[in-house]
Amino acid sequence: MKIICIGRNYVDHIKELNNSIPDEPVLFLKPETSLLNPRLPFFIPSWSKDIHYETELVLRICKPGKNIEEKFAHRYFDQISVGIDFTARDVQTKLKEKGLPWEKAKAFDNAAAVGQFKDWSLIENKDKILFHLEKNGETVQKGDSSLMINNFGKIIEEASKYFTLKKGDYIFTGTPVGVGPVKFNDKLEAFLEGEKVLSFNIK
Ligand code: ZN
Repeated sequence: MKIICIGRNYVDHIKELNNSIPDEPVLFLKPETSLLNPRLPFFIPSWSKDIHYETELVLRICKPGKNIEEKFAHRYFDQISVGIDFTARDVQTKLKEKGLPWEKAKAFDNAAAVGQFKDWSLIENKDKILFHLEKNGETVQKGDSSLMINNFGKIIEEASKYFTLKKGDYIFTGTPVGVGPVKFNDKLEAFLEGEKVLSFNIK
């Protein structure tokens, strides 16, 4: 399986990192080895001094597809959750300055934490799906899907132009404003529509 991620998909997050609004979706991948084992903590890697959480809605692909049109995209996912797109911000900043790819900052081992999935059919208001992250019991990031520049359909249309989607792939749909650093012994808990779907510690 693979994880497809979209960057710069919420206006207020683009502003907080002083990036510009892209004229086409920014896509990148994480490999299967970037999935965090749900029974383990996230260990801060030795080579970064600035690991950030990015809290994102995550879709689970339910059948293979290529060149999917936006209007048919809803047929290709059946579950949703919340995940953390861990980012080594210091490493990413250096790579961006040099115009180099982001893999070292985004696709490293355990850089994708994914919560328990919920059936898409059980989501009541599909146009405004609320999610938030608590760090040590305090809400540090919250967003909703209505704030996305590219909606789920557009992300799937764009991603499937380049990457064949396979059953079991995940799509990280971008982070809202409020990204920030983690440190040793932090506890992260992510919520989908008020329901806790993910909980783990930073070590
Ligand atoms: Zn992200």
